[in-house]
Amino acid sequence: MKSVPPVCLVSVEGLRKEYLTRHGAMKALDGVSFHIMAGETLALVGESGCGKSTLASALLGLVRFDAGTIAIDGNAITARSKGITMPPRRDIGVVFQNPQSSLDPKMRVRSIIAEPLNTIGMRGDTITRRANELLSQVGLGPEYLHRYPHQLSGGQMQRVAIARALALEPRLLILDEPTAALDVSVQAQILKLLKALQAKSNVSYLFITHDLGVVDYVANRVAVMYLGRIVESGLVADIFANPRHPYTQALLDAVPVIDPARRRLSAPLDGEVPSPLNRLPGCPFAPRCLRATNTCRTSDPDLVDEGGRRVHACFFPLSHEDGSQLRGSPHEAA
Ligand code: ADP
Ligand code: MG
Repeated sequence: MKSVPPVCLVSVEGLRKEYLTRHGAMKALDGVSFHIMAGETLALVGESGCGKSTLASALLGLVRFDAGTIAIDGNAITARSKGITMPPRRDIGVVFQNPQSSLDPKMRVRSIIAEPLNTIGMRGDTITRRANELLSQVGLGPEYLHRYPHQLSGGQMQRVAIARALALEPRLLILDEPTAALDVSVQAQILKLLKALQAKSNVSYLFITHDLGVVDYVANRVAVMYLGRIVESGLVADIFANPRHPYTQALLDAVPVIDPARRRLSAPLDGEVPSPLNRLPGCPFAPRCLRATNTCRTSDPDLVDEGGRRVHACFFPLSHEDGSQLRGSPHEAA
């Protein structure tokens, strides 16, 4: 096989989005930058409320963002204006967590898949042919064309949602917790299907999940998000073996492991998930971080680039090569 130079498909710089609520300004995205290469999977992880779905909506052009840029293949994305209907983005597809709510219960599978095809002027037999082709790609036979969502299992519904998302051959597929509502065995089948589809088409995935096992299985790179910011990102292998940010470490520690002797390096992430409402100064993770010092509570850490391979935003990053750094806060005597 000829080797193809890597191409950057998605590039996001300094994205900001504030929701104005009754309780004040909610910084859902607080300066988010990342990129996705053609054909790769970037996993986006972080607790509920950290801004993952807002980021997905911004990429889809569904929410207006306040600052920053998003470019797909070098072309800037702007949000839809109120009252102006735009054709759906052909280059970005999306699959949500819950197929029950994303598939219209009154529509047969054929009509569900036909919707995006209609928007590009496809009609009649051509639609049926294309719908069958898409169904077969997601492992469903032509008999499913005439079924209603309630006649499908959760996994089959999600396969239909994937078929619809791929109908216009997008360059990027956003998967927002696509397997979180499925049984473990069904989840594994859907993940396998997504990997196979990517291998065939060179589509890129932005895979939003809170399951680090899923990240390990599907993604090349991972971005860890905390309160509207990316606090660490890089290759999955690097980040999981050697997390720099205590929040990443805490997420990894929260994964159940067989080995009880494995050392805990962080406080468990229990208690309330902090609110992006009226944030305190300093590192957003400081209130929950065992290693936090005065610096962390008063200054905001910038993202530090480690030789272009990975980035982290922590004043006192963990270093797993140097065991001495692992023993508690940096200001304590070891
Ligand atoms: P995640 O997908 O990571 O759970 P979201 O992007 O859904 O996070 O939400 C990020 C923050 O923005 C949350 O605090 C959420 O309550 C708030 N938020 C999301 N959508 C809206 C909205 N339409 N209006 C006001 N606040 C919102
Ligand atoms: Mg969400």
